[in-house]
Amino acid sequence: MTIATDLQGEQGVALLHDPLRNKGTSFTEVERDALGLRGLLPPKVTTLEQQCSKVLSNVRHKASDLDKYTYLISLQERNATLFYRVVMDNMFELMPIIYTPTVGLACQRYALIFRRPQGLFISSNDRGRVADLLRNWPQHDVRMIVVTDGERILGLGDLGACGMGIPVGKLSLYTACAGIDPTKCLPIMLDVGTNNKTLRDDPLYLGLGQDRLRGPKYDELVEEFVTAVQEVFPKACLQFEDFGNTNAFRMLRKYQDRVCTFNDDIQGTAGVTLSGLYSSLRITGGKLTDKKFLFFGAGEAGVGICNLIVRALVAEGLTEQAARERCWLVDSHGLVTKNRTDLAEHKLPYAHDHAPMPDLLAAVEALKPTALIGVSGQPAAFTEPIVKAMARLNKRPLIFALSNPTSKAECTAEQAYTWTDGRAIFASGSPFPPFTLKGVTHVSGQGNNSYVFPGVGLGVIASHARRVTDEMFFVAAKTLASLVTEADLASGCVYPDLQRIREVSGKIAEVVANLAFERKLADIPRPRDVAALVREHMYEPVYKSYV
Ligand code: NAD
Repeated sequence: MTIATDLQGEQGVALLHDPLRNKGTSFTEVERDALGLRGLLPPKVTTLEQQCSKVLSNVRHKASDLDKYTYLISLQERNATLFYRVVMDNMFELMPIIYTPTVGLACQRYALIFRRPQGLFISSNDRGRVADLLRNWPQHDVRMIVVTDGERILGLGDLGACGMGIPVGKLSLYTACAGIDPTKCLPIMLDVGTNNKTLRDDPLYLGLGQDRLRGPKYDELVEEFVTAVQEVFPKACLQFEDFGNTNAFRMLRKYQDRVCTFNDDIQGTAGVTLSGLYSSLRITGGKLTDKKFLFFGAGEAGVGICNLIVRALVAEGLTEQAARERCWLVDSHGLVTKNRTDLAEHKLPYAHDHAPMPDLLAAVEALKPTALIGVSGQPAAFTEPIVKAMARLNKRPLIFALSNPTSKAECTAEQAYTWTDGRAIFASGSPFPPFTLKGVTHVSGQGNNSYVFPGVGLGVIASHARRVTDEMFFVAAKTLASLVTEADLASGCVYPDLQRIREVSGKIAEVVANLAFERKLADIPRPRDVAALVREHMYEPVYKSYV
């Protein structure tokens, strides 16, 4: 047998098994002959559109959201073009499947549904060889990395290596929402163990069965990882995702002025929330400087949002001190006040002079906030008396229940509208369906950072920015708010229609890239047309011709 005969069949099969090149039944007659595919596919050649409607019909026939998720992920592993075409054309329906809330369940069942690694697993056993592991990734021009250590997955807590679903999902959104080329995206799980005993005791658990690495050893591993990323993928932006808050704040402080990095839980959430507040002003009237914000939850999201609100208030003329005094935090020990001795460093700027408040209701009554923002991961924390108090204090109370997934939301859309007699301006981290009360249909907004991070990432990539700054999230928030239409607001929604997410991300990318040029953070000369530069970087899921 000749070598040629030995190899016969490999080219065609390899193509069908390469998700980035596979077209399935859409390989044309000519391609089938030229690429050794004849016979490996059923005879009929179908179009991408026909494949899309088949996929959609299959998705809709699945019994559960998790079944839909596993079906879509296996499609992504088989045919990325088809996956992204279907998702992009059906964002409203499919985003809750490939990301929150379903991705939370997928992480909880990760060991069971794991089929193929879709990213890199780097563990604490890999000290000294992290760069080599990065080099095992088959793509060499990586521009966007999402890394987690799995300690705070959504509001679900420590899921260890099962948290890999989050970087995978997040990068799918970078592509689906902003058109970042999937070949330039790399999901990474930094497995440092887990303190989740149930997971560790599960014989099917796929991660390291040890306590979480802490202290200097943890920092050394992260340092080696960040340095290795600079060496192997020097043009990549590194997004930290779903780290526990002590590490998240420390790592952001340590690296944000040194490498191209950001933390989406801290900065991206802030961008989307500030944008929702700006849009709300178009309904409530008044200025941002007139408002008072009460946060339930004082972690990455809560403090990150406060920090960006302060920037916005200072831009409108308040002193930094006065701006901070507009932001109040409640954590698991009550109102964050100056006389408390148990406060983590990130809460200190928002510890004000005030008597202790035993609970959230007392804090609402005492502080009379205009906005109540839930970022605690505590379901049902916004009780009827609390929401009713907000309604008594405000003509149009702002109730943002941002905790994910849906099971962790501080209240539901239905509760917010019912308890305020339809006056609430409501947004949530995971989507709720429209709710009709007394003949009026209320469409709540999805206050999810997916409105912001894809565009910021695209702007950073397009301008070859060396750093990701807080100011980028500030301009992103303003831009996002400017894209909310009067029709969106009339239905009660403070975010643009999700179906417009590609346009929205493109516009955010443009302002972010412009800012990178203005602040001399870009590694390329400023082109005359920045919008065109951004468009050039936007991947379109269409089949290429191979002959
Ligand atoms: P985190 O762990 O950093 O902070 C959680 C905070 O909640 C802590 O301050 C903690 O003290 C507080 N908390 C916990 N239990 C409490 C209780 N019983 N009463 C009062 N406060 C309590 O987590 P994070 O990153 O800030 O995320 C918090 C939640 O926000 C999660 O559910 C996450 O999914 C959600 N989130 C949503 C978005 C979005 O885009 N919508 C983005 C980031 C985070």
